[in-house]
Amino acid sequence: MSEEKVGGNEPGRSGETCAASTVPRLLAQSPEPMTPRASLDMRVFRQTMGLFATGVTVITTRMNGSVHGMTANSVTSLSLDPLLMLVAINRRASMCNIVQQAGEFVINILNKRQEELSHYFGGAKIGPPPASLRFEPNPDSVPYIRGTLAAIQCRIEQVDGGDHLIVLGRVVDFQDGPPAAPLVYFRGRYCTLSDLEPETQLLV
Ligand SMILES: Cc1cc2nc3c(=O)[nH]c(=O)nc-3n(C[C@H](O)[C@H](O)[C@H](O)COP(=O)(O)OP(=O)(O)OC[C@H]3O[C@@H](n4cnc5c(N)ncnc54)[C@H](O)[C@@H]3O)c2cc1C
Repeated sequence: MSEEKVGGNEPGRSGETCAASTVPRLLAQSPEPMTPRASLDMRVFRQTMGLFATGVTVITTRMNGSVHGMTANSVTSLSLDPLLMLVAINRRASMCNIVQQAGEFVINILNKRQEELSHYFGGAKIGPPPASLRFEPNPDSVPYIRGTLAAIQCRIEQVDGGDHLIVLGRVVDFQDGPPAAPLVYFRGRYCTLSDLEPETQLLV
């Protein structure tokens, strides 16, 4: 079905799950005002950026008829006119070359029940693909992962970057999946928005 490669873990990644209700307590533990740091320590910087809560996606692309996927949270909608998505990909990850050769990719936005897909495509490299991994056939393009919150199909417009490749993708198609709470990544841990009311889960 696929040749999803699972690469190495990025330091600080963790499979632990925290509830959204823990967030106010975590913040309450840091009453001190912000102070400038004497030196720029990369490890401390990663911890600082871990305070930026994000959703979690799996980027999929297709090479020689096989699917390759990579967990990514460096994803943003860059422009509405034209519709452009931005994804940052580590130059050392195999996805970096594969997506450039493929010229297209899909951003699959995970829901809270899809944490194992994030583990798998984020470098767990343990065993076969999760049983929950199913693809929506897309004969002429990259398959979507079934059951995600949404999937956005892009064609690569431009690439650039430092130690990461900044991929700009022109949106060519997108679709919403079944309503569900999103999978959230915060301080190197997976969280859920358990307080989210079902009727507020879709902002349409
Ligand atoms: C929540 C979450 C969010 C993430 N967000 C991003 C993101 O936005 N962008 C991103 O790029 N990654 C991100 N990652 C990490 C990414 O998912 C993993 O690194 C993934 O395994 C890469 O898959 P791959 O098959 O393309 O890479 P692989 O080829 O399997 O490589 C995986 C990793 O191995 C190391 N590696 C590979 N080849 C070499 C080499 N020749 N020399 C030294 N090291 C090497 C690199 O660190 C590389 O990233 C995220 C992970 C998690 C869990």
